[in-house]
Amino acid sequence: MAGERQDDCLFCKIVAGEVPADVVRETGTTLAFRDINPQAPTHVLVVPKVHYRDAPSLAAADPQVTADVLREAGEVAAEDKVDGTGYRIVFNTGSGAGQTVWHAHAHVLGGRGFNWPPG
Ligand code: 5GP
Ligand code: ZN
Repeated sequence: MAGERQDDCLFCKIVAGEVPADVVRETGTTLAFRDINPQAPTHVLVVPKVHYRDAPSLAAADPQVTADVLREAGEVAAEDKVDGTGYRIVFNTGSGAGQTVWHAHAHVLGGRGFNWPPG
């Protein structure tokens, strides 16, 4: 069921502490941890503790937690001091856009330059 823990979901396991992660921030509704395969000096994933398959599904079901994820993305950028130069908040949505983990997550990328349009 949407919103409930999925036993086969990697990020649900990280939220539950069953898979280790380099956690940088935690709130009642969100967890932020460093990406295992960083694509920038700062590359942190911010996930809702509840399980939804992608960000729009989370937003439809729980606007408050969606806002929590975005606020925490900004806090991560500030803590890593990449907010002054600019950073990316990315929600890959669907396999064609590169989504590989089917638990909503924001990528926070910073500490280098970025091209537009993205690759
Ligand atoms: P997506 O491709 O779904 O947008 O993003 C999934 C991200 O999760 C990828 O950037 C990938 O490197 C990261 N990832 C996959 N497995 C793990 C893991 O076990 N731990 C951490 N910290 N990140 C992971
Ligand atoms: Zn999950």
